[in-house]
Amino acid sequence: MDKHHVIPLITEAEIAARMATLAREIAASVGTDIMVVSLLKGSFMFTADLIRALHHAGVRTQVDFMTLSSYGARTESSGSVNLAGDMGGDISGKDVLIVDDILESGRTLDFAARTLKARGATTVKIAVLLEKPGKLQVPMEADFIGFTIPDKFVVGYGLDYANHYRELPYVGVVSTP
Ligand code: 5GP
Ligand code: MG
Repeated sequence: MDKHHVIPLITEAEIAARMATLAREIAASVGTDIMVVSLLKGSFMFTADLIRALHHAGVRTQVDFMTLSSYGARTESSGSVNLAGDMGGDISGKDVLIVDDILESGRTLDFAARTLKARGATTVKIAVLLEKPGKLQVPMEADFIGFTIPDKFVVGYGLDYANHYRELPYVGVVSTP
C-alpha cells in the first residue's frame, strides 16, 4: 500500500465540528430515543463519533450493526447488495436511524431501509457521513448528510480501499504517484 498517497479532503477538525451540528439536526427531527443501525464495515468510526455527539445533544441511543457489502476490493460498486452479517436485536416499534458511510448508487441504503421497514420499525431515517451527488441508480435520499463530496473514490475515517486506510482520522482521496 506504500505506493499510494492519500490527499486529505475533509480534515479531522472539520469532521468533529460537523458531528456536533449533525447531532443537533438529528435530535431536533428524530427525537430523543433512537435505535441506531450502523452499516459495517465503513460506518464504524462515524457511528462511534455520532452516538457520542447525540449523547451531548440529549439523545439516548441503542446501537446495532448489519454488515452489507457491495464493493469487494474494487472501486466500482458491483451492483448487488449482500447481507453478510445480520443484527441481533428486535427493531419493531422503534425509531430507527440507519447510519452509513457514503451514499453513492443508493443500493445499499435502499436495501437496508426496505429490510428494516419490513421488520416493523416505526420510522426509518438515514444519516450518511458523505454523499456523492449525481450517481443514484435507485431513488434514495438521506435525511441527514455530513458532507457532499466530488465524484472521487475516498478513504479514511472508516472507509477503505481493499480493507486499508480505515484508520485515518480524516477523509482523503487515494492517488497513485
Ligand atoms: P452505494 O450502495 O450507495 O452505491 O454505495 C454505498 C457503499 O459503497 C458505501 O457504504 C461504501 O461501502 C461504498 N463506497 C461508495 N463510494 C465509496 C468511496 O468513494 N470510497 C469507499 N471506500 N467506499 C465507497
Ligand atoms: Mg459500506
